[in-house]
Amino acid sequence: MEKSRREFLKIAGFSLLGIGVQPIIKAFGQSEDSKFSKRPEALVGKRWAMVIDPKKCKDDCRDCIDACHRIHNVPDFGNPKDEVKWIWNEPFEKAFPGQEHEYIEEYIEEELKGKPFIVLCNHCENPACVRVCPTKATWKREDGIVMMDYHRCIGCRFCMAACPFGARSLNWRDPRPFIKEINPKYPTRMRGVVEKCNFCAERLAQGLQPACVEACKEKALVFGDLEDPHSEVREILRSNHTIRRKPQLGTNPQVYYIV
Ligand code: SF4
Repeated sequence: MEKSRREFLKIAGFSLLGIGVQPIIKAFGQSEDSKFSKRPEALVGKRWAMVIDPKKCKDDCRDCIDACHRIHNVPDFGNPKDEVKWIWNEPFEKAFPGQEHEYIEEYIEEELKGKPFIVLCNHCENPACVRVCPTKATWKREDGIVMMDYHRCIGCRFCMAACPFGARSLNWRDPRPFIKEINPKYPTRMRGVVEKCNFCAERLAQGLQPACVEACKEKALVFGDLEDPHSEVREILRSNHTIRRKPQLGTNPQVYYIV
């Protein structure tokens, strides 16, 4: 990967001399997506989304977080400053600022304030992170999943600055020594690379549900195709009141919360 970075800087130098950006992009290796190429057993959707029911979450339960981080080789640096996370807990008021109004305040105060809500990348319909990435290391698939190509990432952190949800983490240090047990089926990253939730694209390609969904004994997380009117996510959205994080910012998040 170091070689890729040197190549990027070299090619970027040429681009300043007048050579276009497209050849730079083509000079990089295969995308993460192509490694998870579609198999006959793959789960296929037109617009993947997740619905979370925080009322079903048990206090102090970390099953979804642990499963995700274990499968994806997410390092644990042991301090909040260097923290790398794909899925984590935020108290309601931090996850959903601006959702209050005078008639809901009592409900928020009694039922929601301080309650942990599971948060992750929202796989936004209009992802700010994708727009700002100079190397196209992050992009949105046709089925709505916002992907990362670790080999293309140059660690500029534009995507982190653009994401209003703090859904992306940078590896400030080499993460490999901080992974408890490396899963050989998923790539590890290196220092200077950004990472985030990928809606388990690699598992969908094998016909499996996202790891967090599978790990939750309480069935608090449901994953499915929003464009399928008969899907479980659509049924839940029809029959429950749901909110999303910071909808006023216009990124159109695809993770919904039952309140
Ligand atoms: Fe991008 Fe952040 Fe939206 Fe995920 S939550 S798609 S990282 S803007």
